[in-house]
Amino acid sequence: MKYKELVDVYEALSQTTKKLEKIAILTDFFKNIDSENIDKVVLMSLGLVYPKNSEEEQGIGDKILMKAISQIFGVSISKVEDNVREFGDIGQVAEKLSKEKTQQTFFSKELTIKFVFNSIRKIANISGDKSQSRKIAIISELLSSASGGEAKYISKTILEELRLGVGEAIVRDAISNAFGIDKEITERAAMLTNDLGLVAKFAKEKGENGLKKLNLIPGRPVKPMLAQLSPGIDISLKEMGNAICETKYDGIRIQIHKNGNEINFFTRKLENVTNAIPEMIEPIKNGFPNEDFIVEGEIIATRDGKPISFQYILHRVRRKYNIDKAIKNVPLTLYLFDVLYYKTPLIDKSLKKRREILERIIKLGDKINLSTKIDVNVETIYKAEELFKDSISKGHEGIMIKDPDEPYIPGIRGKKMLKFKAEPETLDVVVVGGTYGLGRRSNFVGSYLVALKDEDNKLKTVAHVATGLDDETLEHLTNLMEKYKKYDKGTKIFVEPKIILEIAYSEVVKSPEYETGYSLRFPVVKRIRIDKGVDDINTVESLKTMFKS
Ligand code: ATP
Repeated sequence: MKYKELVDVYEALSQTTKKLEKIAILTDFFKNIDSENIDKVVLMSLGLVYPKNSEEEQGIGDKILMKAISQIFGVSISKVEDNVREFGDIGQVAEKLSKEKTQQTFFSKELTIKFVFNSIRKIANISGDKSQSRKIAIISELLSSASGGEAKYISKTILEELRLGVGEAIVRDAISNAFGIDKEITERAAMLTNDLGLVAKFAKEKGENGLKKLNLIPGRPVKPMLAQLSPGIDISLKEMGNAICETKYDGIRIQIHKNGNEINFFTRKLENVTNAIPEMIEPIKNGFPNEDFIVEGEIIATRDGKPISFQYILHRVRRKYNIDKAIKNVPLTLYLFDVLYYKTPLIDKSLKKRREILERIIKLGDKINLSTKIDVNVETIYKAEELFKDSISKGHEGIMIKDPDEPYIPGIRGKKMLKFKAEPETLDVVVVGGTYGLGRRSNFVGSYLVALKDEDNKLKTVAHVATGLDDETLEHLTNLMEKYKKYDKGTKIFVEPKIILEIAYSEVVKSPEYETGYSLRFPVVKRIRIDKGVDDINTVESLKTMFKS
């Protein structure tokens, strides 16, 4: 199957902003694709070559791609950079240069979906010796055979920045329509596998009944169930009736999978961090019967048994070297609060039942605890308030309020799990640009232009944030800005959307200056969220809700 056919679909998708039209375009396309290509095409319609649950990292830096483009099309790096500055998008520059280039110097191989897909996978897998030149060689092979349009979309996919406003929901609906499958069944299969390519292949080959059989498998991480903000303990408990309240720990969420003899730890971004926390493997093995399972909890950093800042745990899970030293300096404690699988999938059981199973199978140890939990009802709201006070006095963040009768729904942020914190709500935003400082700070990016995502996953700027950063963090952030730089203009720098900041602010206000139409008063950086990706940032919709409230 030719890559050109997919490029035509990309072009059609770029011509409309309407969701239903996008779904219709993809439905028609998916219907006629053979079994060999369906999983690839579905992933590529999302701009991916690896499913979301994969540990492979697809995107490469803009700099390598610009270097490749400069070599392939025989233009200087500074010309490529000038063009990127002008168009703001490397894909378009690749298209333009490809069209300008006389064709005779190029191979005339027709690109297939399989070849493009496998080549981009290969680029992601290259590491070690001469990795940059090996990557450039593969990009050259691709781009030198590509037409202008193909070069544009290959570049965008290599960077993992397709941006056609096609999200998972649109692709899911197109799969349902193309293969005549109930939307709820497709949605559930997607939620349990995190791999829409696999879902489409099953839908095509095995139909609705086959798709129903897809389920949780230990070793394959699932998106965590997320919490909404509680407006107040009293209000939430009156609404929920019976509730399970738990201490809310301030660390990072960890999903632990035991699959045969193998133990793996995944973050909420589904990143495998097992190698960074090897001291937790034995306690987990000793803490449970020798069965396959998936449990979930929060890992926190402690000193003398007391919780210490969340940043320590972030640094620990990122660490690749000197791990032994880190184990001593930043001891970890795990508080488990859920079980998703034990011998068999458990997510359809109620929280109450799951907690009972967790309590029955766990053997508590030094590093392994259960979250502190109480049962509360409308008559005993005071117990939840006491738990909240107790949690804060012990250095934790607040409480969770959970509906005991509810199943576990991966990836959903619903009303069945709430969080109530002492501190006001913050926003998770992505950095898209910045400005170098003046005087003493001219070597540092002092102010950061940050963005939220709209309903089509397009990034929209919302504020400049310049406070809350000590010199060490400024230096670290500046290095990251250089690493992810797309281009600069005077003292301004524009970057790939990779750095996630959690920011506090005093108020949401209307502002024509930013693309969201809103801005934040007195924004302050609370922390860098390396456990979150651009998919996890807040939405413009959530900002509007905050503005109204
Ligand atoms: P979110 O996970 O909601 O996107 P976040 O990572 O910024 O946002 P919070 O908003 O502070 O976290 O609250 C939710 C998180 O609280 C959970 O994802 C989990 O990591 C953590 N947490 C701590 N203790 C518990 C607990 N007992 N039960 C469930 N989650 C807990």
